[in-house]
Amino acid sequence: MSDKFVVGLTGGIGSGKSAATALFQKHNIDIIDADEVARDVVAIGSEGLAKIAEHFGNDVLLENGSLNRAALRERVFHNDDEKHWLNGLLHPLIRNQMMTLIAESKSPYCILSVPLLVENNLTVMCNKVVVVDCPEEMQLARAVQRDESTEQTIKNIMASQATRETRLAAADYVLDNSASLAHLAAQVETLHTALLEQCSASI
Ligand code: ATP
Repeated sequence: MSDKFVVGLTGGIGSGKSAATALFQKHNIDIIDADEVARDVVAIGSEGLAKIAEHFGNDVLLENGSLNRAALRERVFHNDDEKHWLNGLLHPLIRNQMMTLIAESKSPYCILSVPLLVENNLTVMCNKVVVVDCPEEMQLARAVQRDESTEQTIKNIMASQATRETRLAAADYVLDNSASLAHLAAQVETLHTALLEQCSASI
């Protein structure tokens, strides 16, 4: 672990991670977003994309040279060996890029926002873990509305993620996002103060 104070933030689909990180950002806290990192490591010109094209061939690329995600998904979906190969490539790249961004972070602590923090054991990179939580029916309703997805699609994603209980068991702090955004903002403010105390005590 680096000498930086890293606060992992996670939650199931539609629980309110983006809403919570936006609130931490208002307190000038650096946010490292795993979804963004995962896109960056396969961006045009990246080592990740070059290795994927070398392994799977150019039909996993779009005409402009960027990754054809649908084609890649197709290639690994029913093939565990290929899935394993891809994860073996991407996971270290993502992890290294996260470490770089953590090292570059300038705020008193930084937030590492990772949807699958618990599932992928990335809690080991964190000094503290914050779980954004709301009832599953609310996750479902908010995600369906936001993504214009079907209930079944969101339910399938929820089933592929850790259960609410497993996630909560990994939490040092829980942000209850079952009410208004103002209610969430008030909790983030209190937590921010507590984390500032924690990180200055740990130096
Ligand atoms: P994902 O894992 O899918 O990226 P997420 O955990 O980042 O989701 P958000 O995108 O923050 O979740 O929230 C899901 C949806 O619910 C968004 O449309 C957001 O505006 C809305 N939302 C979040 N919190 C609240 C709240 N307290 N009240 C009402 N709507 C909310």
